[in-house]
Amino acid sequence: MSGPKTHSWITDLNVYPAGKSKAVGVAEIHKLSANESALGPSPLAVEAYTEAALSLHRYPDPIYFDLRSALAEKYDIEANQIMCGAGSDDLLKQVCRAYLSPGDEAIFVAHSFLIYPIAIKSVGAVGIEVEDTNYTTNIDNIIAAINDKTRLIFIANPNNPTGTVIMKDEIERLWKNIPEHVLLVLDSAYAEFVEDENYDAGIDLVRRSKNVLMTRTFSKLYGLAALRLGWGYACPDIAQTLDKVRDPFNIPSSAQAAGIAALKDKNFEDNVIRFTNEWRRWLANELTALGLKVIPSVTNFIMFKFENKNKTAVNANNFLVQNGYILRYYSGQGLGNFLRLTVGTADENKTVIKLIKQFLED
Ligand SMILES: *Cc1c(COP(=O)(O)O)cnc(C)c1O
Repeated sequence: MSGPKTHSWITDLNVYPAGKSKAVGVAEIHKLSANESALGPSPLAVEAYTEAALSLHRYPDPIYFDLRSALAEKYDIEANQIMCGAGSDDLLKQVCRAYLSPGDEAIFVAHSFLIYPIAIKSVGAVGIEVEDTNYTTNIDNIIAAINDKTRLIFIANPNNPTGTVIMKDEIERLWKNIPEHVLLVLDSAYAEFVEDENYDAGIDLVRRSKNVLMTRTFSKLYGLAALRLGWGYACPDIAQTLDKVRDPFNIPSSAQAAGIAALKDKNFEDNVIRFTNEWRRWLANELTALGLKVIPSVTNFIMFKFENKNKTAVNANNFLVQNGYILRYYSGQGLGNFLRLTVGTADENKTVIKLIKQFLED
């Protein structure tokens, strides 16, 4: 017996390599591998989540009325143009299901989010990877790759895993150079951390366009990664299209309730942003002082490179894991001598620097 025949493009697919959270034989683990929040969720979000447990027998609100209203109010946007997903990953997959047929092309940039090639391939479409410049999105390379088969463009801005960002004039220039039938997805998972006023997460562009989708997440700034909650904003046509391809009850009540509470805790949010950006600067300075090459980041993580032949990223990674610190090691993507470090608590940040120093000096 041979069993059912899998689509050829699914057979070829790689499983998403999530950041590690365990190490054999190490009791106390500090997970700095998945860009989770060092400060955890808002206490108000936890309270709302706990309260939602009393209604576990009810299906969740299928149109997330209250959550969309809260988002609409916070960002001064239209509730009927907001989509919600089980994590923003869910929205990225929905987009592929709705807009890509087998053989269509979707463009993404080298050293960007690993979900894009997986989501593209999962529907039989072809991912076109274009070169970046200094680990930063290169608009001209994207424009040059557009052809008759192009249907979608994914940009993570700020980018993961590099932490770099491009400003709104560049995004605008890209948008002006893409055909109207090509959908531009601006994945702004780390938007809240960006301080530069020349940055736009995509809201301004979505308001003026019919072919732009901005995606956001509660997993990073709001510390709600476990709940799988993301959202998107686009013109009514795109919002209605994604409504057709999503699962009807894709966001649990508990996640909706926690998300609403998180949006209302402005103090907590401001505090996380301040804390994260301060410690990221501190970490960048310390790593640079240790002679490591740090890619300038505007996010809650830092990508840095080991350039000494005797002190490689793979060895540093092993040493750190043995000491309970799990960073993100990239064996592929041309990032083999890099590690990605998520901003941790004050103690974790100090200890990880101490450990890296020890590794380099040994
Ligand atoms: C973390 C991340 C996401 C989203 O995560 P979800 O938990 O699925 O909302 C999306 N894009 C990028 C670039 C990310 O780093």
